[in-house]
Amino acid sequence: MSNGKVDFGRPVLVAGGGGFIGGHLVTRLMEQGHKHVRCVDIKPMGQWYQTSTEAENVVADLTLAENCKAACEDVADVYNLACDMGGMGFIENNKALCMLSVLINTHLLMESRDAKVDRFFYASSACVYNADKQINPDVIPLKEADAYPAMPEDGYGWEKLFSERMCRHFREDYGLKTRVARFHNVYGPYGTWDGGREKAPAAMCRKVIAANDTGQHNIEIWGDGEQTRSFTYIDDCLHGINLIMNSNLDEPINLGSSELVTINGLVDIVEEIGNIKLDRTYNLDAPKGVNGRNSDNTMILERLGGAPSTRLKDGMKKTYQWIESEYRKREEKSVPASSNA
Ligand code: NAD
Repeated sequence: MSNGKVDFGRPVLVAGGGGFIGGHLVTRLMEQGHKHVRCVDIKPMGQWYQTSTEAENVVADLTLAENCKAACEDVADVYNLACDMGGMGFIENNKALCMLSVLINTHLLMESRDAKVDRFFYASSACVYNADKQINPDVIPLKEADAYPAMPEDGYGWEKLFSERMCRHFREDYGLKTRVARFHNVYGPYGTWDGGREKAPAAMCRKVIAANDTGQHNIEIWGDGEQTRSFTYIDDCLHGINLIMNSNLDEPINLGSSELVTINGLVDIVEEIGNIKLDRTYNLDAPKGVNGRNSDNTMILERLGGAPSTRLKDGMKKTYQWIESEYRKREEKSVPASSNA
């Protein structure tokens, strides 16, 4: 960036570009006119959700400093979306793995500082918020200050909170311009929908699609279904990333929808889309996360003039349609259906 203008010619790095949000972000940046988007992910390229042939696509492990150094070479902006993560089932059972993502952000920050990149974006999470403020399903939406005193989600949330602070201190001590967004449950097409890392919106779509397909009209719900959440459609997330990256916001900010829904309410929506009614069983022993969580959007409205606004019904319809087409493709290939809850 020079004179406040984005330099579309210099490379932009999307770490984790083979993933859900990263894949969409690469496409969005190219649409915006970036000539050189470097997309790095540890997964073999055949497993990337989206692969832009116009981008520079690299398979590399970004926990390693030397790979971060190569990834940051000549780069103007870094977007760090690389992380070993998943839904509640994954993060509650893989705390050490989740914490090891600290290596990715740490090495990317160090190499970004040394390569003198213009701006560094870090994808944080609502899992940084103090658990005591999320006990009641009838939630008071979480505002940015509620991350302290610190008592985040064990494992995943601690790593996110630590990495947020690392961004802050690299800004304070080295002058690296860092931007941090706390995502709240992002969903949409081209994301994980099966295999154990999927989140509730995709899992519910898959279960309803499978019920329609197999004729077995029942659905298992993790917890009592009364836990509340808000879910952010991918287009709103991408719009927010762009606004935050181009803002002068130094401190972490919520990037989430404030449309609160119970998990039972989410199932109602998916049943309506799938035109089916299912018998519900509640697995009270399954990981279910906090009882209630919503995004307080006062700061984003005040500072950036807008907040995620896609109605859950509308976003879920698009997500359902994409997962249904992926489900059909898998059935045609006769790959056995997953037994994952
Ligand atoms: P994702 O799992 O689809 O994408 C993450 C990508 O990072 C994956 O493709 C993975 O292969 C890659 N990765 C993991 N380890 C790596 C390594 N060592 N080197 C290189 N690449 C590596 O997840 P997502 O939903 O796209 O999330 C993107 C970011 O947003 C993550 O930091 C995540 O914690 C954060 N976030 C997501 C949500 C959400 O609801 N999706 C909510 C809060 C925060």
